[in-house]
Amino acid sequence: MKDRNFLDTVMEFEQQLESLQGQFHALKEFVAFMMEEHQSLQQENFLLRQRLDEIHAAEEEVLKQSELNAKKLSRLDIGEGYDNLARLYQEGFHVCHVHFGSSRKAEDCLFCLAFLNKQNG
Ligand SMILES: [Zn+2]
Repeated sequence: MKDRNFLDTVMEFEQQLESLQGQFHALKEFVAFMMEEHQSLQQENFLLRQRLDEIHAAEEEVLKQSELNAKKLSRLDIGEGYDNLARLYQEGFHVCHVHFGSSRKAEDCLFCLAFLNKQNG
């Protein structure tokens, strides 16, 4: 009777061990799955950061270009304005604020020349 009880206990223990082994196996698979997931997320994160850096660099480039274009454009405006005034002076008109628009009568005007010099510089 005592031996029978002991055998039952051993068999029960064996069943518990088998069940435990099954749980352990499931746990191992779960850990492996999580590690794989972690690695793929890290990889994805790395690629996204790289892409973000590229986008930031492109944005900076566009900003730099548009600033450069704005500078070129304003320089062009000043240049064009100066050319128009110089042409007007060559055609015989005052461009100085003293006599602006009136005829020079073929005489040079110091105010006009000073003004044009300042615009050109
Ligand atoms: Zn003048």
